[in-house]
Order: sequence, then C-alpha cells, then structure tokens
Amino acid sequence: MFSEYSVVFLILPVLTEKTMNQAKQKYTFGWLNDLAKLLFPNTCVGCSQPLNAGEDSICIDCLIKLPRTNYHRLKKNPVSDKFRGRLRISDASSFLYFARGSSVRSLIHQLKYNGRQDIGLRLGALYARDLISDGYDRPDIIIPLPLHHSKQKLRGYNQCVPIVEGLNKYFQTEMGKATIKRVSNNPTQTRKGRFQRWENVEKIFQIAEPSKIIGKHVLLIDDVITTGSTLEACGRIVLEAGASRLSVLTIATA
Ligand SMILES: [Zn+2]
Repeated sequence: MFSEYSVVFLILPVLTEKTMNQAKQKYTFGWLNDLAKLLFPNTCVGCSQPLNAGEDSICIDCLIKLPRTNYHRLKKNPVSDKFRGRLRISDASSFLYFARGSSVRSLIHQLKYNGRQDIGLRLGALYARDLISDGYDRPDIIIPLPLHHSKQKLRGYNQCVPIVEGLNKYFQTEMGKATIKRVSNNPTQTRKGRFQRWENVEKIFQIAEPSKIIGKHVLLIDDVITTGSTLEACGRIVLEAGASRLSVLTIATA
C-alpha cells in the first residue's frame, strides 16, 4: 500500500535541483513582492525606493538631497541673466538645478510625461515655502505658461498648473489658469539662431483676460528654463498688456 508520504518520495527525484530552486525563488519573491505592494503601495519618484508612512511622492532622503539653487536670494543670478537686455523683469529664479544624476530629471519627467501632477504640487509647495521664508514678494496673480491646446490634449494636462497650485498653497493669491492662451505651437528650436528662434516664438501667445493683468504684479511659471525664449515671448505680451511688474520662476534650470 502506498501512503501519501511514499507518493512524495516517488515524485521527489523527478524534480531536479534546478527546478526546485526556480520554484523556490518564484514562490519567495512573488510572496515578498505581494507583501511589499501591500505594505508600501507607493515608491519614491526620485529614487524608486518604497515610501515610508508619512512620505508623500518623494522620500525624505531625496527631499534632503534636492539641489536647491537659492537664486531667489540674489537679484542677479544665472536665471535672471538669461533675460538681461531682452525683457524688463523684476526678478527671475529657479528652484533646482536640472543636474545629471540628481532626482530632478526623474521628478520632471514623471510630472510631464507620466501623469504625476502630484509632483508638481509637491515641488511648487516646497518652493513657495523657501520663497516666503526668505521674504519673497507676494504677486497679484500667478500664471502657468500655457501649452498649445493640441499638446495639452495629447498630454491630458498642463504640467505648470499643478506647480502653480502648489505655489499658491502658500502664496494664497489669484491663479490665472486661463489668462493667457497659446495660439500656436512653436516649431522645434534646435539648430536655429537666437534671432530666428525669436521670430518663431513671438506670436505664439495671446492675453485672454487683460483685466487680470493690467496694473498687476504678474508671476509667470514654467517647469524648466533652458534658453528662456518661450518665457521671454510670454512675458513680453504680459508687459505689453499693462502689467506693472513681471517675475518669472521655474522649478528647474538647465
Ligand atoms: Zn527617494
């Protein structure tokens, strides 16, 4: 008579050591992954490590290591220099360096291309806290640099809007989400001179709500500043529309 145990002994030699290990590995890691998902449903956008309780989108370690520029403490800085002689701005600054190897690239990428609007909110709020604690003047209106509607439709949102909402958690002022319209999508700016670039971007914005700009201190927001030519084009029509003062802030500077 075969007992249940003898059946096991008959089958056991059939399983080679390799298949046993494979089964063991699959079982162990599958189980660990399930447990990890249950315990840590979210991972840090900066470093992909599981977030601990109380951490939101970005882990404490990545928050501490964020490469802050603190340019807002300087009237003249590398970001304001991008507009020198081109646009009459009150001040310009960026929160973080868009540095290679830092978490900033990953944060911006997730914000722009992976639907992570919470990152924009978080970074905007963090920046506002720094700005206000250093005595930054509260603007009358904060305006996200508009996307062309075709691009916004494709992406589903304008990544500058959650940044503005995050900033406004602390600034508590008006938000101009529909104050400026982008009427054309500027062509790619690579391999073009500065003058040609300017021609391309000059006519791409329109003021939709002039009353919100006339006589006001306008703060214009973008995610990353590179040459500054798009912000320059937008800022120019804001000043032409009668803003008393124009400031520019971005989350990162390349
Ligand atoms: Zn992290």
